[in-house]
Amino acid sequence: MGKTEKLKELFCAFCSGSTPAPVKTEPELPLKEMVRKLESFDEEDWGLYAFNREPLSGKFSAGQKRQYIRKANDCGKEWAERIAEEYHTRRPGEIAAKMGIRVETPAVPVGGELVLFAQFVQPDEITIFTDCLDKASSMEKESGCQLLNRERLFEILLAHELFHAVEERHEQEIYTRTEKVELWRKPFSNKSSIACLSEIAAMAFAAQLLGLTVSPYMLDVLLVRAYDRNMAAGLFEEICRLTEEKMRGQ
Ligand SMILES: [Zn+2]
Repeated sequence: MGKTEKLKELFCAFCSGSTPAPVKTEPELPLKEMVRKLESFDEEDWGLYAFNREPLSGKFSAGQKRQYIRKANDCGKEWAERIAEEYHTRRPGEIAAKMGIRVETPAVPVGGELVLFAQFVQPDEITIFTDCLDKASSMEKESGCQLLNRERLFEILLAHELFHAVEERHEQEIYTRTEKVELWRKPFSNKSSIACLSEIAAMAFAAQLLGLTVSPYMLDVLLVRAYDRNMAAGLFEEICRLTEEKMRGQ
């Protein structure tokens, strides 16, 4: 396995390191209005946003993407219920303990350069960086966004990473791992899983487990905003643009 693939396994959607920074072109919306707009996007909108940073995205038609998005969301929800039933709790901290997963909470990543919010490291460690919790939760009041409550935010990040641990332990049967696309056929078949399906499913898992009424995918924009408003404004424009294109049927 190459180094790049290894990195991809360690980091995920809550890592903004691999997110291209779109150029901000319009005046920034007040935080409250931005949150209201982010709350209005549905699973399919966020799925398209996830596909927009998927290296294999060009291989799929709009119809195929919609189908993948629906199945990945179903997968996340179904596994949230399976895990809640198996461990008799919906609390991510208790589930982690029962799964034998260590949860580390340093302030920032070692090295400190890359803005990173949380990560799952195989086989049994999840790290949640508390500097990000502090910075993002300080926007709770101004934004009116309930997901930014510090404890809630911790649970969402933990639930998201728990899904990656669940994927690892059930890779033979879980949709996000069994669904593969053929990259090339000759001289031998080479198949790859589709990375963004894991992220879509991890968000759906967190939402289902915690009974959220809005998509935690909006944190992808809001957590970045806690560090870099310009970059967050770019991501915000991106999801708005994708949704508008969808409505125009492009
Ligand atoms: Zn992830």
